[in-house]
Amino acid sequence: MSGRVSVVGLGPGRADWCIPEVTERLHQATHLVGYRPYLAMVPPTVTGERRPSGNRVEAERATEALDLAAAGGDVVVVSSGDPGVFAMAAAVIEQLDAHPGRWDDVEVEVLPGVTAALALAARAGAPLGHDFCVISLSDVLKPWSVIERRLDAAAGADFVLALYNPRSRHRPHQLADALAIIARHRKPETVVVVGRNVGRPGESVTVTTLGELDPTQVDMSTLLLIGSTTTRTVARPGRPDLVYTPRRVLHAQRDVHDDRGAVPTGFWLLTGGARSGKSAAAEQLAARSGRPVYVIATAEPVDDDLMARIACHRAARPQSWVTIEAPLDLVGAVAQVPGDACLVLDCVTVWLGNLFHHRGEDAQGADDAAVALASALAARSGPSFVVTNEVGLGIVPDTALGRRYRDTLGRVNATLAQAAARVLFLSAGRAVELGAITELVGR
Ligand code: SAH
Repeated sequence: MSGRVSVVGLGPGRADWCIPEVTERLHQATHLVGYRPYLAMVPPTVTGERRPSGNRVEAERATEALDLAAAGGDVVVVSSGDPGVFAMAAAVIEQLDAHPGRWDDVEVEVLPGVTAALALAARAGAPLGHDFCVISLSDVLKPWSVIERRLDAAAGADFVLALYNPRSRHRPHQLADALAIIARHRKPETVVVVGRNVGRPGESVTVTTLGELDPTQVDMSTLLLIGSTTTRTVARPGRPDLVYTPRRVLHAQRDVHDDRGAVPTGFWLLTGGARSGKSAAAEQLAARSGRPVYVIATAEPVDDDLMARIACHRAARPQSWVTIEAPLDLVGAVAQVPGDACLVLDCVTVWLGNLFHHRGEDAQGADDAAVALASALAARSGPSFVVTNEVGLGIVPDTALGRRYRDTLGRVNATLAQAAARVLFLSAGRAVELGAITELVGR
């Protein structure tokens, strides 16, 4: 006679946070299988035979449970929290998947539990009140590069993040790396809830900020909830603050003036028409980078009008910013800027005009120079904001030189855009983000 495997979640720890159906299964069980510390959470009044195992033997544990059930046992596989969240439910089903037919007679059920994120959220208020994302920082079962990419995407999409398995003795440094990725998208004041042993003896729940979180205070009994840009705290006199994420999201569109407070990184290309706000946007972004700023200026003071404009631009910038004059050699100028400083290049349009002026009407090498510039910018670790123009939207220029200039600039812009992390189009002081064709319609 074949038996049953019940994969159950005990909740975070307290018996009254475990659903009654799970408690019933525990008392019915002939065998209890699980990671040793979780089996220790099962009440002593439960009499089934306990078969504890170590941390990294999920597959063996699942097979053992299925075999015991095949021999007629009423087997309970215990996880803490919910068995479907970084726990045994998937491990058991994976064995069924890997061995078709082997345990066809065994009944398999999964019973839910209160996962740590929900328990901690309830303690703090309602930090998961809007969209959230659950990520394990353990790289035992997935490469760290996958974790980095998911963190970047989820933080970039402004989800509240629940970080499970945040830091262990074997991986002491990765939490700081993970927080640095999140900090690309969130301000240091972002609310963070730190829960340790929630619903267990020695519980602690603290509310801090991304800037103040001390990674060394975090261990494997800890869960982190990183707020979105809208997560807030509410002070209550004489009582702990309440944390919540409002259910209404006001800003549907991301633009350069309201990039949700993120500190900009990588190479950005800002294009648009004359007086569209490109230089101002580049300077605002640079000011927000929090790094020393180097401005590569391409204009040559060849007449009074240009001299006045250059003086005006310079006066408007903070005094600490360093200006590098580079009418022709942009790659050389980029090389002069320290790698982790913030670079502003203003602008590509004038540079190309200089090339046409100095090197003859063919602007020989403009395309090659654009390729070299694009790779020099993409290789920088600090942020780069590069201003160019869209000159191709009007009527066709009536001189051959004008048409060649327009076409060359179009190609140069496309070369730079391909290497850029973000491309913004500005008009009337507003920006829209331009996506790669492949992102929009597929390859
Ligand atoms: N199945 C479990 C998660 C297992 S992964 C669940 O649904 O909760 C183990 C991680 O969960 C821990 O490293 C920690 O980040 C988190 N965790 C589980 N129980 C916790 C608790 N009581 N307090 C704080 N964090 C907890």
